[in-house]
Amino acid sequence: MQDAESEQGATDDGSTATSNEKLRARQYWPPSTLYVVATPIGNLGDMTPRAITVLSDVDLIAAEDTRHSSSLLRHFGISTPMLACHDHNETEVAENIIARLAKGQSVALISDAGTPLISDPGYATVRRVREQGYRVSPVPGACALTCALSVAGLPTDRFSFEGFLPAKAGQRDKRLAALREQTGSIIFYEAPHRIVASLTAMVDTFGPDREAVFARELTKRYETLTGGTLATLLAEVSAERNQQRGEMVIIIKGLAMTETQRSEQELLADQVLTTLLGELPVKQATGLAVKLTGLKKNYLYNRAIDLVKDTT
Ligand code: SAM
Repeated sequence: MQDAESEQGATDDGSTATSNEKLRARQYWPPSTLYVVATPIGNLGDMTPRAITVLSDVDLIAAEDTRHSSSLLRHFGISTPMLACHDHNETEVAENIIARLAKGQSVALISDAGTPLISDPGYATVRRVREQGYRVSPVPGACALTCALSVAGLPTDRFSFEGFLPAKAGQRDKRLAALREQTGSIIFYEAPHRIVASLTAMVDTFGPDREAVFARELTKRYETLTGGTLATLLAEVSAERNQQRGEMVIIIKGLAMTETQRSEQELLADQVLTTLLGELPVKQATGLAVKLTGLKKNYLYNRAIDLVKDTT
């Protein structure tokens, strides 16, 4: 891979490249880099121009399944050599990649679909490459979890990604039970043959009335997005065989914060602010309180003003 610019950040303006050549001309390509490249989750139109350029220009592509990825690469006219990288050979692949990086070559890591490492192989490789001091650079794009969350209409200010639930019923139920009281949205990936059993277990754990969204075949022809309670989703998915096909994401709405949690937070905020306000002006005390408590800046600022008023 060649350096086409001597200055980093040459394409940080976010402008749209009309061709790979233009993109290349504006892009800074540091040598000895592992690029983690997102590919589409169904719709080929979601392949980014930058992904095409990087995959065309690197010396090697480490792919989860080389046969699967070869049709994607062929579609975009990319002929870069590939190396299989899956969960069982990651240590070996990481060493192979490091040897390439040591020679000044660049490598890209892709998975079958979406963003590598998100319920996909790559974690051990990225960790090892970073440990060795080489640069790892993201080429962002599609990801089913953010894709589903962005259209679900459920709270996005706090969420957790749970990936696939354990296959064994006992372990699955334990994991679900641990999430029952969670206050942020909870995102799961699921496979067609387990969807009915998982939704049934979710109804049992979270209760039939808990709000949820079922997102299927996102960005593809049969994309469906169904919202409702867990009980209605279970009924709809069980009744219609087509709803049990394809790729799917479930998002469960978190619990509203309980009064106890809220008052504990408020108490903590007051204690921290009172101490800080003894030494610092409101703005600085608020800034430090945000760091110490993780609570929202606006809330802490308004609370600090009230505390100051109360003491004058
Ligand atoms: N790395 C991928 C990503 O960035 O989302 C996820 C890979 S994981 C092995 C595959 C799972 O992601 C599927 O079983 C499904 O739960 C979810 N998924 C992938 N593509 C999807 C799509 N188009 N619509 C809904 N869910 C999808």
